Amino acid sequence: IPLDIMPDIAKAEHVLHEVFGFEEFRSLQKDIIQNVLAKNDTLAIMPTGGGKSLCYQIPALLFERLTIVVSPLISLMKDQVDQLTAYGISASTLNSSLSLQEYEQTLDLIRSNKVDLLYLAPETLMKNNVLNLVSGLGVDCIAIDEAHCISEWGHDFRPEYRQLAEVTTRFDGAVTLGLTATATPQVQRDIAGSLGLKNANTFVASFNRKNLYLDVANKNDSLQQVIYFLQEHKNESGIIYCFSRRQVDKLANDLNANGFSALPYHAGLEENERMRNQDAFIRDETNIIVATIAFGMGIDKPDVRFVIHHDMPKNIESYYQQIGRAGRDGLQSDCLFLFSYGDASKIRYFIEQKAEAEQRVAEQHLQQLMEFVETNQCRRIKLLEYFGEQFTQENCGMCDFCTGNTPERENITVPAQKFLSAMVRTEQRFGYHHIKNILVGSRRKEVLKFNHDQLSTHGIGKEFSSQEWKQLYRELMRQDIILREVKHKSLKLTPKAIDILKGKEQVFGVIEEPEQKTKTRQTKS
Ligand code: ADP
Ligand code: ZN
Repeated sequence: IPLDIMPDIAKAEHVLHEVFGFEEFRSLQKDIIQNVLAKNDTLAIMPTGGGKSLCYQIPALLFERLTIVVSPLISLMKDQVDQLTAYGISASTLNSSLSLQEYEQTLDLIRSNKVDLLYLAPETLMKNNVLNLVSGLGVDCIAIDEAHCISEWGHDFRPEYRQLAEVTTRFDGAVTLGLTATATPQVQRDIAGSLGLKNANTFVASFNRKNLYLDVANKNDSLQQVIYFLQEHKNESGIIYCFSRRQVDKLANDLNANGFSALPYHAGLEENERMRNQDAFIRDETNIIVATIAFGMGIDKPDVRFVIHHDMPKNIESYYQQIGRAGRDGLQSDCLFLFSYGDASKIRYFIEQKAEAEQRVAEQHLQQLMEFVETNQCRRIKLLEYFGEQFTQENCGMCDFCTGNTPERENITVPAQKFLSAMVRTEQRFGYHHIKNILVGSRRKEVLKFNHDQLSTHGIGKEFSSQEWKQLYRELMRQDIILREVKHKSLKLTPKAIDILKGKEQVFGVIEEPEQKTKTRQTKS
């Protein structure tokens, strides 16, 4: 059939095969493209790696007039333009990284109608000369990538996005397509509302990434834990996320010292070095990249076999995005999250520095992440719940809970009572370290200064190492048996603690030696 009399979707399929060389559409791509070609405003919600780009790239090739792609990051735009150019597609970008000459050349190309896809940052699109140029030429489609940036409830709010709604009304006959990998119902409503997409058709793909094995472990000896994990993943590619640049450098060094090939990646490195390290990872010259969250945007490496969170991510959104970089080829990949309450307090501390409105959102995000960490059900239930999706499968077979790899819970009532008694004897005025020192019978000067070596609880906890007391302490915190007062960092009993001291309630939890804790928990099939 000649192309000009084919139905729209057949044309789209033709382009999929002939231009991109792909066999078939992935779930929802077909519906979204059909909808866009029919000029219905559309909201497409798909997980990272789900294939959002084709949803506007294919219509762009079928529309007569220009398709504008709004994207927040210059580096991403550049990557996409390069990729499309390699496919023989005419795509350009106007941004501040271009020289004046390149800028003028691109303008000429656009003016002579030689561009199918034009990538712009929102602030560039808002410039009068650009706006006049493109509206003069005519626009058939405006695709707004990372559309969650428009919502204050999203994890990446960008005020420039707010003005897009106004701009889209200036393009007569243009269809608006919002795309995002963020799908909390709240953000979703916000995007549709803010973009003025009253009757937008919304397509939400499932966020369940079946091939990712999800494991959350208590962090105690993190370097050892990472090393054990890596020994199970020899010669595989993976990313290790850390909270700070300092931690990235340290861990990368420690891993190299232990015979692993790891490179650092963070915003404190020279641009050159960063690029070099990233390329080395993509080309398999190094197995491991140790990175801050700066790493991974727009990285399309299909065979990342694992993602480790050495430190706690900010929220479920970031966690999901980051683990989402693993297993894009569909093969099993392992995600290990080393959790500690100390990390959670660190994040809470940063939240407290924010403005009030932001604080509320960030608090809520942290709370949701804590629920995911502390859940005693399949990890996928809480994870997908965050994206407004109900996970009903009985056993996912791909998380620590469903594979029975959560550590066994034993009766820890007696050591818990010892710990709580030591708190009572010291009038709940001290922090964890002091209580632990009393229990193990330390004669440090802080202990002697308060005559705490005279207490009946002094030295009654010698059966536990400091590591084990720390685990017990965390377990008590986790179960809301004790609280940590923020200002003085002293520990307080909750009503639950009273019941335990009176012997009315028992406590169950996990106390393990670090070696046991980190023994492998994978279900390789
Ligand atoms: P997203 O923007 O949703 O994160 P991309 O659009 O970058 O995802 O697509 C992720 C990867 O999947 C890319 O390598 C892309 O070429 C590939 N891809 C997309 N759609 C298809 C398809 N229908 N068939 C095969 N590969 C596809
Ligand atoms: Zn599960």
